[in-house]
Amino acid sequence: MITYEEALKKVLESCIVLQKEGIPILESLNCILAQDIISEDNIPVNDNSAMDGYAVMSADLTGAEKASPVALKKYDYDIPAGELGRHEIKKGGCIKIMTGAPVPAGCDCVVKKEDVVIRENEILFFKEHVVFENIRHKGEDIKKGETVFKEGLGIDPALIGVLASLGMKDVLTFKPPVAGIISTGNELVEIDESLIFGMVRDSNSYSLASQLKEAGAQYIRYGIIKDNKTDLKKAIEKATGECDLVLISGGVSVGDYDYIKEILNETGAREIFWGVKQKPGKPLAFYKHDEIPIFGLPGNPVSVMVCFELYVRPLIRKMMGHQDLFRKTINAKALEQFKHEPGRTEFVRVKIKQDEYGNYFAGITGEQGSGILTSMAAADGIAQIDEDKKEIIKGENLKVYLIKNGL
Ligand code: AMP
Ligand code: MG
Repeated sequence: MITYEEALKKVLESCIVLQKEGIPILESLNCILAQDIISEDNIPVNDNSAMDGYAVMSADLTGAEKASPVALKKYDYDIPAGELGRHEIKKGGCIKIMTGAPVPAGCDCVVKKEDVVIRENEILFFKEHVVFENIRHKGEDIKKGETVFKEGLGIDPALIGVLASLGMKDVLTFKPPVAGIISTGNELVEIDESLIFGMVRDSNSYSLASQLKEAGAQYIRYGIIKDNKTDLKKAIEKATGECDLVLISGGVSVGDYDYIKEILNETGAREIFWGVKQKPGKPLAFYKHDEIPIFGLPGNPVSVMVCFELYVRPLIRKMMGHQDLFRKTINAKALEQFKHEPGRTEFVRVKIKQDEYGNYFAGITGEQGSGILTSMAAADGIAQIDEDKKEIIKGENLKVYLIKNGL
């Protein structure tokens, strides 16, 4: 059996080549840029006013004071935003101008309208202004020819705004992978079926679909497949043909009806590893069918979700072109004793608290059995206890992966 670290390395090495696609910018949120963005324009395209006020020559205001204002002749037109005409001011004059309007030639400063007094055809100014005050310069945000963003950057709302200002309707992104989800087990019933004796509702395909969605991937659910070799083989072959990766839940352990490994071998998939020294998720199987990664996830609902966090999510992020593959980790002090038997890396669901100084504390989210899905629902993070540790004592530092947004 290999270690968690070795298994993760093997999974990440298996990353398939990323595909690029051009999509409308409004669909690109949370995708990764697959192109450098080079501006064809200066933004802004011309010098313009940052205020509603008066365009002046700053030298004309020399000596202006509260007690002895300077009077400048007001031109009989104004310059609104969107003005296409090119105006000019001469010494001793001023033009009313609105925010965003192009400043006239000769103007090197705009005075806020709140700071002046209007007197018939003249405007009174009460203080001196420095050159370029309240003027936004041509290209001050982005220069023509400049590389604004590099390939590999995550697309957020501000980046989409910048793309719009550059006139880009579409942008090249890395295509999110499509993952096939197969739930296996004779005991499984659909969500809308009543729970009769011996049966379990399929929750794994729902938690996995949601984890995939949260990670930015797409999914196809192939439903519940009974522990029947013919049906399982058909479903696996279909999913492998249609998806970029396949997630199979259940059937990878050592039970008499755990057929997944046998069937994967029959389909020509290659075993990369089976069995990891970890808890939960020990029987995790990882295969490749040509370039398609296939995860055989142990069916217990917590094992499925933890294995997704540990292996599938980083792989998906790599396939999507992310530079940063992992959840943010913190050091948190244990609020209680964490029991642990050496020999396997253990992943414990924890609730995180923070004190007024910013220190983190981690408490166990109740019963940790791998069938106790509510322990996952209550968790903010997953604490890692290394293989060789005996136990974690109260107050000891723990490495915790934060799995929920907002912390
Ligand atoms: P297996 O890995 O097939 O041995 O399943 C381990 C445990 O997980 C069993 O108790 C199953 O009933 C449960 N299980 C398997 N698949 C699912 C599923 N899709 N939803 C909920 N529980 C499941
Ligand atoms: Mg099973």
